[in-house]
Amino acid sequence: MTKLRWGLIGASTIAKQWMIAAIRENGGEVVAVMSTDADRGAAYAKEQGIARATTRLDEIAGANNVDAIYISTTNELHAEQTLAAARAGKHVLCEKPLALSLADARAMVAECRKAGVVMGTNHHLRNAATHRAMRDAIASGEIGKPLFARVFHAVYLPPSLQGWRIDKPQAGGGVVLDITCHDADTLRFVLDAEPVSVLAMTTNGGMGRDGLEDGVMGVMRFNNGVLAQFHDSFTTKYATTGFEVHGTEGSLIGRNCMTQQPVGEVILRNGAGESPLKVEHENLYVRSVRLFQDAVAGKGAPAATAEDGIRSLAGALATLEAARSGRETPIEKA
Ligand code: NDP
Repeated sequence: MTKLRWGLIGASTIAKQWMIAAIRENGGEVVAVMSTDADRGAAYAKEQGIARATTRLDEIAGANNVDAIYISTTNELHAEQTLAAARAGKHVLCEKPLALSLADARAMVAECRKAGVVMGTNHHLRNAATHRAMRDAIASGEIGKPLFARVFHAVYLPPSLQGWRIDKPQAGGGVVLDITCHDADTLRFVLDAEPVSVLAMTTNGGMGRDGLEDGVMGVMRFNNGVLAQFHDSFTTKYATTGFEVHGTEGSLIGRNCMTQQPVGEVILRNGAGESPLKVEHENLYVRSVRLFQDAVAGKGAPAATAEDGIRSLAGALATLEAARSGRETPIEKA
């Protein structure tokens, strides 16, 4: 196992709730954190047992005792921070959405390639045992030809996260960049196919401000003919999450699987009745860090690559454009 020394860019909730522990569980060390606020950064470092806090991007990117950078700031900052890390020769695991534009996301990926460093996108859901089991079942023909998918990803944004996501368009707020981006990645992964276009409508259920959408429903068309319906929101207190794929010979019904927790189940329903798929749960973020570490050691690729991050961003941006224009909108390639 390659034990990486990590620098965190962003004194964030996701790092605190999942990623610091995932890094440590993989034998990695978190050696520094960067926050724009010196006091908050120092308090965060102390609370999380991180030796050093800084407010300077060049300092954390250039630190000699840092091998890899995990970026979990607000979305408008990912591009500049990835470029700085890559230029300093650091591997980069970046949060989704990679950026606010495809041009920026492509520039990030190009810079990492030029620097010869590994870049991954932290799409946790393709690490879920439920989604991996669905992907395998489809690949082995269990449901015949897939025809339709349905994604139920309408949740209630906890009050502690009701900040930039609902009131800062310039930070990449809104439910589409936050959640539809994950749907696009999970659909690509499970179906092993590419989305080519999307139709969508967005709404505001009273949480989003400054024109930010807090709910969306839409349909993506995939290059294997599948139509995939998605429903995402920040305002739905009592819904459950799910992911379904319906094929000519059977249906896969995933429940409680669009979540950060290693939970959920999948039923295969066909002419023989119903049977659960075998699902061995593992912490999604621990697996994401493990595959990233392996990739740095020259073994395989991150669970979601940098190119996967461009594709999911393309799906999200096309969804926003489709909602604006009312038209079926093409989804750009990586
Ligand atoms: P947070 O709001 O917790 O953190 C984002 C930034 O906000 C931090 O970098 C920090 O800035 C600032 N901040 C944090 N807490 C405070 C505070 N109390 N007061 C003022 N500023 C604060 O965001 P999340 O952790 O929810 O999301 C960060 C990124 O991770 C996003 O890109 C998001 O899309 C992604 N994400 C991914 C998930 C996944 O499962 N893949 C899940 C959740 C989020 P500074 O660093 O300058 O201190």
